[in-house]
Amino acid sequence: MALSATSARRPLCRFSNAAVTGRDTPLGRPQVEKSRSREVEKSRSREVEKSGSREVGTLDSLPTPIGHGLAGVAAGWSIGGVAREHRRQLVTQVAILAALGMGADLDLLIHWHSGPTHSLGAAAIAAGAAALWRWPIARTRWLIAAAACAAWATHPLLDSLAPDTSPPIGVMAFWPLTSQYFITGLDVFMPIWRAPGNLKAIAHDLVAVVREIAILAPIVHLTWKTGRTVNVEKSRSRDDPPPIA
Ligand SMILES: [Zn+2]
Repeated sequence: MALSATSARRPLCRFSNAAVTGRDTPLGRPQVEKSRSREVEKSRSREVEKSGSREVGTLDSLPTPIGHGLAGVAAGWSIGGVAREHRRQLVTQVAILAALGMGADLDLLIHWHSGPTHSLGAAAIAAGAAALWRWPIARTRWLIAAAACAAWATHPLLDSLAPDTSPPIGVMAFWPLTSQYFITGLDVFMPIWRAPGNLKAIAHDLVAVVREIAILAPIVHLTWKTGRTVNVEKSRSRDDPPPIA
């Protein structure tokens, strides 16, 4: 599998405000257009609210927070180990790793999904913060950084494995080196509908969530089974062990 900046089905769009309309969706309705422009995004939301029952809602080309959380935990455990012997440590570790997996979507607060937060650069920033403050997710500073980076990086990976029909296509995976958007072209996950109260949309979203869990839960289980047991509390009280000569 390779990330692609161009695709026959999904051409690369760099900072495009182009709209996609009239395409069939999983619910058989024309897709609501999406734009990177915050103003257009906000006005679109108002239009959807005003149109009421005539409009199904908005289509999000992304896995749910459940999927992102599971992926973050699996990535973190595979690198930093599992704090399985201490319940409080385990809860804290899982909470932090899941939050790291979901963290990139903070850009939804400013109506700019899939931008710089969905990049390896943002993952590196998260790793630096985690290592600096020794977040209790692994044993040493290097492992903390690596686990946090991997957990954050799962987010743009998962988003690039979901269908995206709204420009700009894909995620800004390699910011700040490039502001191009990338996508794999693989529809591993289903898009999510945001249409509160619409039973058809709710049923569709439930199927999407079940699919995410069916794909990611076995990976989490595998990392639980194979991950080494660690005491992450020690990462906050002791310096990293010196390298073996
Ligand atoms: Zn996202």
